[in-house]
Amino acid sequence: MATDQEKTRMCLKQLLEKPGNGNCADCGAAEPEWASYTLGVFVCHSCSGLHRNIAQISKVKSVLLDPWSSSELEFMDSAGNNAAKAKYEQIVPAFYYQPTHRDCTLLRDQWIRAKYERKEFLCVEKQEPYSAGYREGFLWKRGRDNGQYLNRKFILSEREGVLKYFNKHDAREPKAIMRINTVNATFQPAKIGTAHGLQITYLKENSTRNIFVYHEDGKEMVDWFNAIRAARFNYLQVAFPGTPKSDLLPKLTRNYIKEGYMEKTGPKHTEGFKKRWFSMDDRRLMYFKDPLDAYARGEVFIGSKENYYTVLPGLPPNIQGYAWPFGITIVTPDRKFPVTCETEDEQKDWMAAFQAVINRPMLPQDYAVEAYFKHKP
Ligand SMILES: [Zn+2]
Repeated sequence: MATDQEKTRMCLKQLLEKPGNGNCADCGAAEPEWASYTLGVFVCHSCSGLHRNIAQISKVKSVLLDPWSSSELEFMDSAGNNAAKAKYEQIVPAFYYQPTHRDCTLLRDQWIRAKYERKEFLCVEKQEPYSAGYREGFLWKRGRDNGQYLNRKFILSEREGVLKYFNKHDAREPKAIMRINTVNATFQPAKIGTAHGLQITYLKENSTRNIFVYHEDGKEMVDWFNAIRAARFNYLQVAFPGTPKSDLLPKLTRNYIKEGYMEKTGPKHTEGFKKRWFSMDDRRLMYFKDPLDAYARGEVFIGSKENYYTVLPGLPPNIQGYAWPFGITIVTPDRKFPVTCETEDEQKDWMAAFQAVINRPMLPQDYAVEAYFKHKP
């Protein structure tokens, strides 16, 4: 006869096989091994740690290692991930960023708090901080010259189609006006060195500009992020009428395809190679002296194979002056762009990143960007 313990194990195994329970209720990771027995959801190990931040409403334990009472098992059976989703995610705005297991802790923590603690998706009034179309507040912004963070007033105005910030609290003229149609925002905790660090980029005269901001309060920071997404969503719906929402949503914000150090030389290939920080943002390969520079030293447009872009391992013959041994040559219709990587793994990863971009056919708007790069002075 099965012992009580074996019966419990069997029962939990069956519960995990029920539809919805096979993935973490919060980040979608496969095969969750933890559960909140007060909310009735199965979650991954990483999200279970975040549920401990809201211990007053969520109590977690291990599916495999902790003891379970029969009443707890009955509750998990009556609830479960699909039921919790129907209850706590009733009205998630389309633009609202729902994190995956690959996203930073801040995004996942705030998603969990928004759902279960603040119950933001049961009541539209609670969504005003990011859905009102206007947002004003202070953020710590990294200074361009000394890298110190200074408190700056930011205004996001959907009506004006801009995000702007002011250097002095009483200043009339903004220090920068970022047009919503070119703005991107991506959390970069490791690069910025703070858990709430957000990189905002925009185009100024077709070149990418970076600013780095954070707010001590995680909710404030994620509300800014979703407010930017909401403004971009509304802009895109007006700019591309009739385009299905599902085509617009992936364009609200984007993470970089890859970032890291490589060495590069100048256009004549006779200059010595210099170590630079590279960011691959959609089809723009940008390089910076410092990862937190306000603007790129240069940008290279990477098109598609149909338009004569290729990437090759190794360097052109007779090239000299590099320290890192693993070369890559990016070939555009106009020039060769040799770079070197420190390790073979880095070389492989960069090659894969370039190849993925090159394999993807160019969109009409990509041709406009390519034309700009070709005619750049
Ligand atoms: Zn998870």
